[in-house]
Amino acid sequence: MSIDRDVAALRERMLELSALNAAKDLMAWDQMTYMPPGGGPARGAHGAVIGRLMHERMVDPGLRRLLERLRTAGDALEPLVRDEVTVLARDVELAARYPSALVAEVAAHGSTCFDAWRVARERNDFGVVATLLERSLELTQRLAACHPAAAHPADPFIDAADEGMSVARLEPLFKELRDALLPMVDAVAERGEPQAVLPVHRSGEAQLALALRFAVDLGYDVGRGRQDLAPHPFAIRIGHGDVRITSRVAPTDLQEALFSTIHEAGHALYEQGLSDALDGTALASGVSAGVHESQSRLFENLVARSRAFWHYALPRVQAAFPELAHLDVEAAYRAVNRVRRSLIRTDADELTYNLHVIVRFDLELELLAGNLSVADLPEAWAERYRSDLGVVPNGAADGVLQDLHWFGGAIPGHFQGYTIGNVLSVAIFDAARSALGDLDDQIAAGDFAPLRAWLREHVHAHGRRYPPLELAQRVTGAPLRVEPYLGYLRAKYLDDGAPTASAA
Ligand code: ZN
Repeated sequence: MSIDRDVAALRERMLELSALNAAKDLMAWDQMTYMPPGGGPARGAHGAVIGRLMHERMVDPGLRRLLERLRTAGDALEPLVRDEVTVLARDVELAARYPSALVAEVAAHGSTCFDAWRVARERNDFGVVATLLERSLELTQRLAACHPAAAHPADPFIDAADEGMSVARLEPLFKELRDALLPMVDAVAERGEPQAVLPVHRSGEAQLALALRFAVDLGYDVGRGRQDLAPHPFAIRIGHGDVRITSRVAPTDLQEALFSTIHEAGHALYEQGLSDALDGTALASGVSAGVHESQSRLFENLVARSRAFWHYALPRVQAAFPELAHLDVEAAYRAVNRVRRSLIRTDADELTYNLHVIVRFDLELELLAGNLSVADLPEAWAERYRSDLGVVPNGAADGVLQDLHWFGGAIPGHFQGYTIGNVLSVAIFDAARSALGDLDDQIAAGDFAPLRAWLREHVHAHGRRYPPLELAQRVTGAPLRVEPYLGYLRAKYLDDGAPTASAA
């Protein structure tokens, strides 16, 4: 009886928290899509208030007592509630480490910093934001100091985004990856470059409509979502029946609209695929940055950059864009898989993408450990791009200012999630292929339902019920390893002499 009352009290508290969270997310969605620039200061102040209210509710002693009572109830609880209590207790413990005043300071600073970053990027001038970034670093170090037992100041932030991961675990994985990728990029970049774009003349609207059609064919439910334009595309879950995607369009290259939309649809399929039973619980979201990214990259790369996909996609592309009538499947496939040494992470191909990430990850660690100053950051960035990618930024805008991650109030951008996601996407796709057999034939025929159902059953439905490394182990039958991922890249970019559809 008292357990039932406690569970009901938990539901009530979760409803409050999810209402605040939905308000915060809806405000963020609006800020990144439609809000006029003048709305910035008020939105920042309002967001900081919501953030403070959420933090206060999370660290409320009543919630802690409630979770403790539920925890001691053990087997008397339904398994779902037991899992929720475990996950929520971890969230509360993390929130409680940070004083409310510091959380509010980071939030308020984040809004100022974000606005300054936009101006700095427009003017290609790091100086506009340098002092604010120094303050972000100092605030981040104060957050890190709330975890005195951490082996590296970045560890608590990495663990919060990708539970179970740490600098000590990631550094060897990333080193193995970088050592293997550098010569692979050299070898592939030596070969001539195929046509780089899918050149189109039609409006952004036509591009968006086609991209959304692909997202819907992949399984994105527009009755529970919508698509809008955004300069920095993202997917966001406002509620169980409202998971939105955003897209970016380049006026003359269809790839931008297609791949930004399919990437975000991959994130959205994860959130739309959560089991109904999780609605209203602390378990109702993707489990980690890395697992989330594994789903977006799986659809973007393993599906939509495969030969099989272009058998399905090309006739539809050509019906909407007759100017591409001259392409055959092979030419389209090569166009969307061109390898290029480039400056911009979000435009990078599969082969160079992780090099962009590892540069950021390493620089973040140096900043947080106090080995690199903000003043020296642009130079350190340029140096790593020269050595790892063979290109040097023209200025701050296509260098250190290109990503928003470091300009939201605290330094940890959680860049590791992108590379964990890439590595995991291949392991998960291989597991799906083993289970589903003729996956390429299904994709070529535009029949994505078996893949989607398999992912839903094994990944999406669980939300946060299993910690990410445990989920990955359950799905792929192995711990996270770099080698199968490298094998996929080798087969696609080296052995085939040109990109090929996975290892089938
Ligand atoms: Zn993503």
